[in-house]
Amino acid sequence: MASSRLPLFAALSLLASPASVRAQINTVQPIAPDVYFHEGDPRRGHCNNGWIVMNDYVVEVDANYPSGAKIVIPKIRAMTEKPLRFVIDTHFHPDHSFGNQIWSDEGAVVVAQAGTLDELEKSGAADWDLSAKSRPDVAASRLKLPSLVYTDLLVFDDGRHRVELRWAGIAHTRGDTLVWLPKERILFTGDVCVNGSFNYVHDSDIGEWIKALEAAKKLGAQKVCPGHGPMGGPEIIADQQGYFIELRRGVQELIDEKKSPAEVKAAVPELAARLRKIAHIARYVPTDAYFTAHVGKAYMELGAGPLPK
Ligand SMILES: [Zn+2]
Repeated sequence: MASSRLPLFAALSLLASPASVRAQINTVQPIAPDVYFHEGDPRRGHCNNGWIVMNDYVVEVDANYPSGAKIVIPKIRAMTEKPLRFVIDTHFHPDHSFGNQIWSDEGAVVVAQAGTLDELEKSGAADWDLSAKSRPDVAASRLKLPSLVYTDLLVFDDGRHRVELRWAGIAHTRGDTLVWLPKERILFTGDVCVNGSFNYVHDSDIGEWIKALEAAKKLGAQKVCPGHGPMGGPEIIADQQGYFIELRRGVQELIDEKKSPAEVKAAVPELAARLRKIAHIARYVPTDAYFTAHVGKAYMELGAGPLPK
């Protein structure tokens, strides 16, 4: 369903961060010695990046789009001469993986969980062609697949820094990686957690995602670097999880009330308004058109079939 995927990305990229959280777009944010966060520009569809300067090399979190990679690479080069040796695709979506070739040109090996390689092998080429039609940076580059692949856990540890790549389970996609720094208690979440109305549910399983967020919470991060939106503390994992729990609860209520699919669809604005009144999850509720996609996904998962077009 690549054809329905990319227009949504394009539209999501137009959403700005909500005013309640402080955005620091395109700014290098030091978060611990040798650990950095860089918030991507949503207007260009960029995801967030992060990097860890190890003793001998740099590990990069997310490849971004080619244009996003080209913003970040000079900033890393300006702070260290160590080689950019590894770039992690936290999942297969274009805004996290289509910059792979740019990092590879710098000498980096692309690392991903097996599910991400699988998805890129399946749909990467078609997504690429579609994306290249509207993105000159994609048109000028080419698809590069991960070549270092893990299943459950992959660890970089040089004594000074420990970087754990952990499969999140089924969540935003089937191949999401959490990047966990146990010494610094910093978690890079990819799109398992976002901070704002960026959730894209097309390739997800919301029910499983709620469980994955529970496991992510248990890591005990003090600083959480989401896939989109500003950095935060552990509350952003809890808030994102709370949003999905309330979404599912609201949809389940409509099912329990024996509403028809058309009636469920008609109830979308009312449910959105209700969720927007819950302070800690309000920022996760997108505009009604996108919220309808969230409701539709939850409705399918709860066994009630598709919503009418
Ligand atoms: Zn994504």
